[in-house]
Amino acid sequence: MSQNNCYLEDEKNTVCERLNQADNVEPFFWQKKSLEEMSETEWELLCSGCGKCCLHKINDRENKKTLFTNVACRFLDIEICTCKLYEHRHKADSGCRKINIESLKETPRWLPKTCAYQLLYEGKDLPNWHYLVSGSFETVHKAGFSIKGRTINKVITAENCHKYIIDWDDI
Ligand code: SF4
Ligand code: SF4
Repeated sequence: MSQNNCYLEDEKNTVCERLNQADNVEPFFWQKKSLEEMSETEWELLCSGCGKCCLHKINDRENKKTLFTNVACRFLDIEICTCKLYEHRHKADSGCRKINIESLKETPRWLPKTCAYQLLYEGKDLPNWHYLVSGSFETVHKAGFSIKGRTINKVITAENCHKYIIDWDDI
């Protein structure tokens, strides 16, 4: 993506540097390629950093639904919505799920409806608060689509998890 696509002064260098460091990233690649066609770098760049996939979830088998809670994984920094051990996450936490095409096909859906991967999988475009569109990593938080300020620190167990179920519009 060219520098011209980054118009927000506060973060334009950070966002542009991230994109410029990535090899073979075409401007608006997510509109030109299917998820299957994307490189690993492009796939990684899609994540908006909302943090919602890191919320503890309950598989409601009876109603065939995934119920989200407002309790985040212990490895998530809930202030900046970033995994503290991203590179080693699958080894560190066996419950940390890999997001790939196969996981997008699963039912019931376990990614939030506003997840970038979920949106593209459903044939939608990225929203204007996504950093690839806005040019700022902050817009996902400012627009209220991340977990920032919406979660609590709790130890969640099979016994108490139902107390923390949420019904956010963006989940
Ligand atoms: S829900 Fe999707 S966009 Fe949000 S942090 Fe997880 S992978 Fe990234
Ligand atoms: S270990 Fe996985 S679920 Fe936990 S914060 Fe990191 S990416 Fe999210």
